[in-house]
Amino acid sequence: MRLISVRTAGAPTLGIQAGERWAAASDLLPDAPPTMAALLDAGPAAVAALRAAATVAALEAVGRPLETSELLAPVPRPGKVVAIGRNYRAHQDEEGVDPPTSPLIFAKWPSSVIGPAEAIRWDPELTSQVDYEAELAVVIGTPARNVDEADALRHVLGYTCLNDVSARDLQFADGQWARGKSLDTFCPMGPALVTADEIPDPQSLAIRCRVNDRLVQDSTTALMYFGVAAIISHCSRAFTLEPGDVIATGTPGGVGIFRDPPELLGDGDVVTVSIEGVGELRNVCRHERVPAVVR
Ligand code: MG
Repeated sequence: MRLISVRTAGAPTLGIQAGERWAAASDLLPDAPPTMAALLDAGPAAVAALRAAATVAALEAVGRPLETSELLAPVPRPGKVVAIGRNYRAHQDEEGVDPPTSPLIFAKWPSSVIGPAEAIRWDPELTSQVDYEAELAVVIGTPARNVDEADALRHVLGYTCLNDVSARDLQFADGQWARGKSLDTFCPMGPALVTADEIPDPQSLAIRCRVNDRLVQDSTTALMYFGVAAIISHCSRAFTLEPGDVIATGTPGGVGIFRDPPELLGDGDVVTVSIEGVGELRNVCRHERVPAVVR
């Protein structure tokens, strides 16, 4: 099942995607949770009920065209976005650092999340080194605290594409990464959350990134140092992963800053993250000047 969040009448609506069409959850099941947040609150029984109602015939009967709908991030405002650094050998090599001995955790502010319909925006006076990072994102479905690796995947609601957009000049100048990774719009996600039953092995997916039409990252999630289950278990030893939390599992080699010469993003560039069986997330880049807010 491909779950989406669609802006209808200014508010997010939970939908199910079927090909080029989608249906509102509430059109399939009268008492369905109206939003992704409500579905996450309701838990696995609500997901199962929705799956039972989302038959091909039902989707065809109430489907609306995807093309004319505004997609938000599937989880429009996660409680937290946990990101993992240096989780692929080729990216760790290009950074010139030692292999990690455990998952390297950092944070992206939930306010940086956008969907496929929005642009990645930045002020060129604040940063001149904006970079892409294609990543498999994990969306947590049930609370996970102190779980073993063998049980970890039971807590996954599903998967989506994520671009861990990074302002390299801010990231490297600060010495820690929260600011450079958390500019508004720097966490595009989507387009759909593909439920875990459709991705039996998250460690066997082709993952790619294109800038305009140029292939810049081309790898597989098989090459992660720490797979999804290991990451969930590791995080859960330290803090509770809650429904709707998102884990960005790290990026393969090929990011712009470590190319020779560096190839960073500019106004008008289009970045596409694609993951086998999960989807394709495309965002345009825009320079913008942010006016001072006077109250
Ligand atoms: Mg990253």
